Amino acid sequence: MYVIKNLMEELVQKYYEKINDELGVCKCEKCKADVMALALNRLPPRYCVTEDGKMFVKLKELEIQFEVDIIAALAAAAYVVKNNVRHEERDCSDEM
Ligand SMILES: [Zn+2]
Repeated sequence: MYVIKNLMEELVQKYYEKINDELGVCKCEKCKADVMALALNRLPPRYCVTEDGKMFVKLKELEIQFEVDIIAALAAAAYVVKNNVRHEERDCSDEM
């Protein structure tokens, strides 16, 4: 089975888990999703076609290439989310 995957998404997820303590942003599911979405909007998508599990070599290459950008994007996204936490509003259409 072939799946189209945005590798950048994997990496943003990974780095979010790694540095969320330092980001100092609320760790609830909603804020996590907001941070990741905003960070991904700042990063170039990197799609690839994968058969289960075969993307990891590429992922490592991308990680080396984009590590600094990903961390910067997460930091910028965390800053935005911190400054307008909106747990009550579940509609995200206003900001994307
Ligand atoms: Zn939150």
